[in-house]
Amino acid sequence: MLALEIKGLTKEYKNGVKALHGIDLAVQEGDFYALLGHNGAGKSTTIGIICSLVNKTAGSVKVFGEDLDANLSRLKQHIGLVPQEFNFNHFENVIDILVNQAGYYGIERKEALKRAEVWLTKLDLWDKRNQQSRRLSGGMKRRLMIARALMHHPKLLILDEPTAGVDIELRRTMWAFLQELNLRGTTIILTTHYLEEAEMLCRHIGIIQQGRLVVNMPMKELLMKL
Ligand code: ADP
Ligand code: ADP
Repeated sequence: MLALEIKGLTKEYKNGVKALHGIDLAVQEGDFYALLGHNGAGKSTTIGIICSLVNKTAGSVKVFGEDLDANLSRLKQHIGLVPQEFNFNHFENVIDILVNQAGYYGIERKEALKRAEVWLTKLDLWDKRNQQSRRLSGGMKRRLMIARALMHHPKLLILDEPTAGVDIELRRTMWAFLQELNLRGTTIILTTHYLEEAEMLCRHIGIIQQGRLVVNMPMKELLMKL
C-alpha cells in the first residue's frame, strides 16, 4: 500500500512564483523517506499541500490510497505534521498543549493524558510538563512539536527540517527516536538539507531542485552513485 502518491503536483503562488513544476512522488507504507533540497527548492510547499495548509494549482495527492481533497477530514486523522517554525501558545503549559491538540482529534482527556505521558517520557520532557512553552529551550521546543504531532497516533508523520539549528547530540537523540517510531510502523517523511541526515535515517530519497524532483530512489542506490 502507498502511504502517499503525488502526481503532477504544481504550485504557483499568487505573487506569480512557480514553486512546483509537476512533481511525481510515491512513498510506501512503512518507509522512511527524505526530501532533500536547498532553501527555496519547494520542500515546504510540497509538505504544505500534503497537509492541506497550501492549495495546489494542479495535480493529485492520494493518502493511503484515497484522494486527499475528497476525504480531507478523515485522512487528516492519519497525518501528523511537525512544522519548521514553533507555533505554540507561549503561555500554555506543555501538558495542556498536548491535551488540547488531542482534543482537536476527538481524543478524551483521560486518554490524552496517558498518551502525553508516554511521549513526554520518551522525549525526555516529562519533568517539563507543567512549564510554559516559552520557558523551554529550542531543543525542548523541537521535541515538544514532535510529541504534539504524535498525540493522535498518525500513521504518516511528516517533519519539516526537524533538526535545523539543533546541536549534534540532540540531533542523534531525535534520530534514534524517529528510527524507533518508524520500526514500530509509522511511515515517516522528512525534509532536510543535510545529506548526512538523509543517509543516516532514510530508505528512500527524493532530491528537489527548483520545484522539480530530480532524484527519487533508494538511499543505497544514490550512495553508490556518489
Ligand atoms: P523550501 O521549503 O525547499 O525552502 P519553499 O517551498 O518554502 O522551499 O519555497 C519554494 C519557492 O516558493 C521559493 O521560491 C519561495 O520563495 C516561494 N514561496 C514559498 N512560500 C511562498 C508564499 N507564501 N508566497 C509566495 N512565494 C512563496
Ligand atoms: P492506536 O491504535 O491507538 O492508534 P498505535 O498503533 O498508533 O495505537 O500505537 C500503539 C501504542 O504504541 C500507543 O500507545 C503508542 O503510544 C505506542 N507507540 C507507538 N510508537 C511508539 C514508540 N516509538 N515508542 C513507544 N511507544 C510507541
